[in-house]
Amino acid sequence: MRNTAINKQVQDNLTPEDVLTDLLAGNERFVNNELEEVSHLDLVQQTTTGQYPKAVVLSCIDSRVPVEQVFDQAIGDVFVARVAGNFENEDILGSLEYSCAVAGSKLVLVLGHESCGAVKAACDDVKLGNITHLLANIMPAVKKSAKEIDGDNSSANPKFVAKTVENNVLLTIDRIRERSEILADLESSDAIKIVGGVYSLQTGKVTML
Ligand SMILES: [Zn+2]
Repeated sequence: MRNTAINKQVQDNLTPEDVLTDLLAGNERFVNNELEEVSHLDLVQQTTTGQYPKAVVLSCIDSRVPVEQVFDQAIGDVFVARVAGNFENEDILGSLEYSCAVAGSKLVLVLGHESCGAVKAACDDVKLGNITHLLANIMPAVKKSAKEIDGDNSSANPKFVAKTVENNVLLTIDRIRERSEILADLESSDAIKIVGGVYSLQTGKVTML
């Protein structure tokens, strides 16, 4: 059973590649229903005065994508920023910058997922309250997919939705690099990596893009 939390020394010694390998190994345990046993109380006590997470995951709010479990991570291991449709905005960028530049995380992972309701709503150009503003962030991905996928460009076409989920992750990564000088510089100096993946609702597996 795991009973030690990640500390500064462990975080310092990790490379971005190590962290990605670790998260994907955790996902493999999740897919195989072999989650590591953890003494949560020990980790609570060890992290009371500080945290040294190895990664920050930008995820959708979807209840079917419980990020820590999907990567078999425990208390203190990862930051998670969540917004429907897993895109960046100024506040999310600030959260990612805090994770990497202040708290020492080595990896930014943008995680989309199969059949994302926010992506589907953007495909259908839904207008509803504050959701309209939220969906505007996903529209660049919808427009890109419309040029790449023939036929029905609505949520009724699973191929169009899947392509838009991927494009949304990739465009979000592009915009993170464009809009955050701090993160772009950290990546240029190999201190961090910014990567993207898509979670399968059918298998629980994360496939990197
Ligand atoms: Zn979603």
